[in-house]
Amino acid sequence: MARTYIKDISKSVGSEVTVKGWIDVRRDQGKMVFLDLRDVTGKVQAVVLPNHVEALDVAQKVRPEWIVSVTAQVNKRPERNIKEGVINGDVELEVLTIEVIAEAQDVPFELGSEVNLDTHLDLLPYTLRGEKYKSIFKVQSTILKAFREFLITEGFTEFQAPKLIGEDAEGGANSFDLEYFGHTAHLAQSPQFYKQIMVGVFERVFTTGNVYRAEKHATSRHLNEYTSLDFEMGFIKDHTDIIEMETSLLRYIISALKKECTREFELLNATFPELPENVPVMKLREAQQIIKKEFGEDCSQEPDLEPQHERWLCEYAKKNFNSDFIFITHFPISKRPMYTYEDENDIGYAKGFDLLFRGVEITTGGQRIHNYEKLVKSMENKGLNSNQFRYYLQAFKYGMPPHGGLGLGLERITSKFLGLENIKEATMFPRDINRIDNLLSQ
Ligand code: ATP
Ligand code: MG
Repeated sequence: MARTYIKDISKSVGSEVTVKGWIDVRRDQGKMVFLDLRDVTGKVQAVVLPNHVEALDVAQKVRPEWIVSVTAQVNKRPERNIKEGVINGDVELEVLTIEVIAEAQDVPFELGSEVNLDTHLDLLPYTLRGEKYKSIFKVQSTILKAFREFLITEGFTEFQAPKLIGEDAEGGANSFDLEYFGHTAHLAQSPQFYKQIMVGVFERVFTTGNVYRAEKHATSRHLNEYTSLDFEMGFIKDHTDIIEMETSLLRYIISALKKECTREFELLNATFPELPENVPVMKLREAQQIIKKEFGEDCSQEPDLEPQHERWLCEYAKKNFNSDFIFITHFPISKRPMYTYEDENDIGYAKGFDLLFRGVEITTGGQRIHNYEKLVKSMENKGLNSNQFRYYLQAFKYGMPPHGGLGLGLERITSKFLGLENIKEATMFPRDINRIDNLLSQ
């Protein structure tokens, strides 16, 4: 008999189905056995009655995480046993036969038990199966899908950026170096050079993939390998075109989540963010004045925002604009990478922005220098040897339109959408200073 997914069994009340999946829980009750069965689509309770002798014999042996194929009669539950609001809360399987497809060893604890982060990470191939993590990664995959869908409809072309690179766009401080046939290569910290080069080919491009940051500090928002969602577009007026595109993109992502992940948001006790018609946008210097006035700290001499400043600005945006998002523009050029475009009307400051969401930065973006001579000059001003970047510079030598783009951290945005305390909970296989799957010290 063809396999029926668990979410669909209520359509088969009164007939027989074959369900395949994992044993979630087994409960023995007198001469009967109750099994909670789980597949990718959900869970259902199955009962094995004493008159099905062979099935009962197997049911008494199975344990959590064994994989079985069950044929069963789908029955409506008696009124008093109906579980409201639970998928399949009104139906039950009466098992006719059970076949064991694969056995499993004893599990360390019941799936879905509250365990600390380290235990979760140690046992990840098991714990990821729990409803909480399945929901987190369903949301993450929906964000990624919506990112792609939106940009494709806006005329962007997807490409794959290399991860092994010679020179780094973001500067060498946080780069992982590796031996490369007698030379030194780096793991890319971003797809920056390649997405700009590709603007010369497709005008509008995007790429999603892992990037690497050798950040030694352990925080709740940094990973050493994360997924960067990047786009870059040509023929822009200035950085405000990028801000507008990102705002529409976020609106699309939020509506996709509302359509496809309401159950996951409920299960995780998460709330959909507020993205008003006009998301607040302000210069760094204005933001610093607000911090001084509203929160009493003078950070006006600083070139960047500290984590506490980001939290305050988000608090301010929520209170005054009912927005979970706020764009901060015009950071000092001196602290931004060499490809950053200086505002002709505000010398010393970048036509670029950070987007803050629920207390942290989730995006950096802006306009880039497209003029060859200016770019070479900017490299020199930063003390860089332009000859080392000659490969990338060809894109500008041979004609580039005004362009800009952004990078958005997938794990960071997922954890903020869902109100998770640590970014590692929104990372399937997090790498940190102490761990690549297993703890490095073990
Ligand atoms: P931060 O100041 O928070 O360390 P950044 O300014 O160094 O971030 P960018 O180079 O601007 O980071 O990267 C763009 C986006 O990529 C960030 O806004 C964030 O969403 C994400 N991101 C950057 N570094 C990390 C990291 N180590 N782990 C996870 N996500 C990151
Ligand atoms: Mg940044």
